[in-house]
Amino acid sequence: MINLLDLNQNEIHNLLDDKPYRSSQVFQWIYKKAITDINQMTNIAKNMRTKLAEKATIVYPELIERQVSEDTTEKYAYRLNDGNVIESVLIPDKDHWTICVSSQVGCSLGCKFCYTGRMGFVRNLMPSEIIAQVLYPMRAFPQKNIRNVVFMGMGEPLLNYDSVVRAVQIITDVKGPGISTRRVTVSSCGIIPGLKTLWRDTHAALAISLNAPTDQQRSAIMPINTKYPLNDLLGVLREYPLPRRRRITMEYVLLKGVNDSLEDARNLVRVLSGIKAKINLIPFNQWPGAPFQTPDKASVEAFEAYLKSSPLTVMMRREKGQDILAACGQLAGGRVNEQSRTC
Ligand code: SF4
Repeated sequence: MINLLDLNQNEIHNLLDDKPYRSSQVFQWIYKKAITDINQMTNIAKNMRTKLAEKATIVYPELIERQVSEDTTEKYAYRLNDGNVIESVLIPDKDHWTICVSSQVGCSLGCKFCYTGRMGFVRNLMPSEIIAQVLYPMRAFPQKNIRNVVFMGMGEPLLNYDSVVRAVQIITDVKGPGISTRRVTVSSCGIIPGLKTLWRDTHAALAISLNAPTDQQRSAIMPINTKYPLNDLLGVLREYPLPRRRRITMEYVLLKGVNDSLEDARNLVRVLSGIKAKINLIPFNQWPGAPFQTPDKASVEAFEAYLKSSPLTVMMRREKGQDILAACGQLAGGRVNEQSRTC
């Protein structure tokens, strides 16, 4: 049985094999009116509804838990059809909210600072399982102005390329949830084949989990760097076809004594030359048994100050939701899946 939530408008059009406006009607029933019964699509002929219901359905994962942090960050856990559990985090900002979604159950990349890396890879998410993480809070809390979507939950989005692209196409469709592509960010550890086509396929914003300025340092904490070395990655980012005024976000988790020295800051500025980048600094959140420590405040400030003296734009990510283990590096993929973490 096909889940209609897995299909973009073109694919629904192919499935219906009818006039183009028909797929648009189906899409609006699903996303604007939130129906889950194909028979409720009353502007579609009954025989067509019956035929569609014979081969397709509309099924969401089950929300099993919602936790709210002292700082109002919210964490959602969903049980998938096969019993696996994924999580997403709803993060408050001044006048809007950002939803951080997972793209895989677990992750195969094993970044050393990340809990998800410890649990290994279980499976890719279907587009419907990604979209549901966006739709649930938008529908439950329409007053919240959920405006941004970031693919920074469990998993490497570009290793689930087709589902992620389709999910982005669906959530940005004006006949669907209609989120602006400028407000959707895909975060990757640097999967070069996916980076070469991501802009063409989505026009989403890009974030790279960089975390080190040399191959030696990066390979020590991110094994994927041996497959896609830093120079090759930076070469692809230099050519990334961004429009004027848009920047690639470089995520940099500061690990005490590993990548937080002034020399590292100098090297970082050097290697990023020629790339339209802004840097997001994230002091490491220590978790039980973590092989790294939170950096000293003084090193963090010195690192930040050095970057700010360069032409680069720098932001310091203030962690949210730590009391419910929803901060960066603390996501718990479940009651079933152990602790996990994000790109
Ligand atoms: S940081 Fe991202 S890519 Fe690396 S192990 Fe964690 S989830 Fe996977």
